Amino acid sequence: MTSAETEVKSVLISEEEIKEAIAKTGKEISEKYKGKKLLVVGILKGSFVFVADLVREITIPCEVDFMAAKSYGSSTVSSGDVNITRDIASDLSGYNIIIAEDILDTGNTLSKVKRKLLERNPESLELIVLLDKPDRRTAEIEADKALFTIPDAFVVGYGLDYDEKYRNLKYIGVL
Ligand code: 5GP
Repeated sequence: MTSAETEVKSVLISEEEIKEAIAKTGKEISEKYKGKKLLVVGILKGSFVFVADLVREITIPCEVDFMAAKSYGSSTVSSGDVNITRDIASDLSGYNIIIAEDILDTGNTLSKVKRKLLERNPESLELIVLLDKPDRRTAEIEADKALFTIPDAFVVGYGLDYDEKYRNLKYIGVL
């Protein structure tokens, strides 16, 4: 066991459960967007593992890009202040966009990202999140698909950090 793992209280979602849900989602996406121009947009940093695994379960041609948004420091409480620190192309006409995000919590980050992308006239826009924490929602936004709904706990692993650590865990754990 690594030292990072010894500090995680419990495993909430196992590596196997994540793998199975992502394989199913990749298959659904491949069927839904067959013959269409598809762009998967991940939100850094948290979504990098999810996006890497998800796009490899997509069997149709697809492009991948990343935006970066910051709303958390080393605290576990969202500041509500969202900054887009890395953006993608300004013209998205003709593209079917899937925003792939690690977690939908208060919804502040995704509301802003979604609004920004919709302004650029994509053919369609869908929001897929690995984790949904509905108890903490303050913004008016819901995911089109959430792979797992979780209780109000601070989770780490599979891309998600606490103070930049734990992103490399293969499962979702509770601190
Ligand atoms: P929002 O509150 O805007 O919906 O979520 C903003 C960001 O906060 C997420 O993209 C994610 O990076 C982070 N976040 C929200 N809940 C958690 C959590 O339980 N664990 C971790 N590690 N990050 C979280």
